[in-house]
Amino acid sequence: MVLKNIARAVKNIYKPPITRRYPEVPTELPDRFRGLQKLDKSKCIGCGICANTCPNSAIKIVRARVSPDSEKTRWFPAIDIGHCLFCGLCIDQCPQDALSSTKVYTTGVIRWTHEELLYTPDMLAREVPVGENGE
Ligand code: SF4
Ligand code: SF4
Repeated sequence: MVLKNIARAVKNIYKPPITRRYPEVPTELPDRFRGLQKLDKSKCIGCGICANTCPNSAIKIVRARVSPDSEKTRWFPAIDIGHCLFCGLCIDQCPQDALSSTKVYTTGVIRWTHEELLYTPDMLAREVPVGENGE
């Protein structure tokens, strides 16, 4: 076994490395990668289909401002990223295409407390930086 491993190492000595240098070199992700969701508030009608679809009950419909410069509020989804499976069903079922997947999977997702993973509509719409509750 040892000799076999040495032989393999010698054989591959002039071949390019197959190891990845993440995070120095970000991994290239496929277009259909399901990372952190993004909400388009202008499309969302607050119907709650995404919440009813979620297999892990990670979505709640809550009231939030329609835009950062308005005091008017409407119903939007808030996602508990700590319970999200990133299955994409909420995105598939949204009748308005208001939710989409992004390629973000570390920023704002790797957090120490559960509270930090409760994504308000403002966070999902990126009206406040991800990882902050904006309150
Ligand atoms: S994101 Fe889509 S499914 Fe969810 S409440 Fe808004 S419109 Fe309805
Ligand atoms: S991706 Fe799946 S688990 Fe996550 S919120 Fe949407 S439906 Fe729920």
